[in-house]
Amino acid sequence: GSYGGHRKTMTEHLLKILIVGDGNVGKSSFVHRYVSGQFNKTYKMTVGVDFSVKLLHWSETEKVRLQLWDIAGQERFISMNRIYYKGAVGCVVMFDVTNSSSFLSCRHWKQDLDNKAMLPSGDSIPCILLANKCDLAQRVVSADSIKEFSKANGFKTWMETSVKENKNIGEAMRPTSI
Ligand code: GDP
Repeated sequence: GSYGGHRKTMTEHLLKILIVGDGNVGKSSFVHRYVSGQFNKTYKMTVGVDFSVKLLHWSETEKVRLQLWDIAGQERFISMNRIYYKGAVGCVVMFDVTNSSSFLSCRHWKQDLDNKAMLPSGDSIPCILLANKCDLAQRVVSADSIKEFSKANGFKTWMETSVKENKNIGEAMRPTSI
């Protein structure tokens, strides 16, 4: 026919990724930056769960639809309903390097996830730890303590990010990271 027989079957994979962490650490900004490429300083704080989608053209025959679930509007750690975690294949735990309590909360976020959800294989859901706002001078959490904490709590890896300066945003979301 006129299309020359080059028709390919596209396969679409749906991947659910969770973004957790205390309020104000930069989760919404991160998702917004990753999905739309922008940093919006006055991006409003919402309450509930924000849901964004990014479509990746994986290969000529495969598309990946990334579903980003951002728990929004939570000031501090709260135990989440396991429904929220269900079906997730990866998780981003974020804190703010200028806020030590947001760093301490990461242990609770990670434990809550591990207690309530796992991959179909029975393995724990791969998690990456993001140390955001590394552009700010008034940093209180050192790289050494993040490294140690990341190892001790079973994170795949950790990275310093600045959503403001667009540092490590795409890198953090690469499948090899999570
Ligand atoms: P969330 O509550 O975790 O979703 O945090 P938001 O995305 O609402 O961000 C909280 C505040 O931190 C906002 O005023 C953002 O503009 C600011 N913010 C987010 N990321 C960065 C960053 O990398 N550097 C700096 N300096 N500010 C940031």
